[in-house]
Amino acid sequence: MEQWGLELRRRRILVDRTMRTNRQRVFAAGDIADHDGKVSLISIGFGEAALAVNHIASLLDPARSLTPGHSSDA
Ligand SMILES: Cc1cc2nc3c(=O)[nH]c(=O)nc-3n(C[C@H](O)[C@H](O)[C@H](O)COP(=O)(O)OP(=O)(O)OC[C@H]3O[C@@H](n4cnc5c(N)ncnc54)[C@H](O)[C@@H]3O)c2cc1C
Repeated sequence: MEQWGLELRRRRILVDRTMRTNRQRVFAAGDIADHDGKVSLISIGFGEAALAVNHIASLLDPARSLTPGHSSDA
C-alpha cells in the first residue's frame, strides 16, 4: 500500500470529507481511512462507505444528485 502513491497518516489512508484520497477516483472508508476527528467504530465505517459511494456515483454520473433520496419517500 505504501507504494500505491496514496497519502498516508498514522499508517492509514488520508481522506477528505468525501472519503476521497489524494489519488483521482480512489476512495477509502472504514478503519483504513483517516481524517480529522476519526473514530474507528463499525457504525462510522458504514457511514463512511455510504458517503464514499454517493460521491463516487455523482463523480461517475454528474447528472446524479449527491443525495440519492430516501427509501421512506419511495
Ligand atoms: C478488540 C476490538 C474491539 C472492538 N469493538 C468494537 C465495538 O464494540 N463496537 C464497534 O463499533 N467497533 C468495535 N471495534 C472497531 C471495529 O472492529 C472496526 O471499526 C471495524 O471492524 C472496521 O471495519 P472495516 O471493515 O473498516 O475493517 P476490518 O474489520 O479490519 O476489515 C478489513 C478486512 O480486510 C481484510 N484484509 C486486510 N488486508 C487485506 C488484503 N491485502 N487483501 C484482502 N483482504 C484484506 C482483513 O482480513 C479484514 O477482514 C473493535 C475493534 C477491536 C480491535
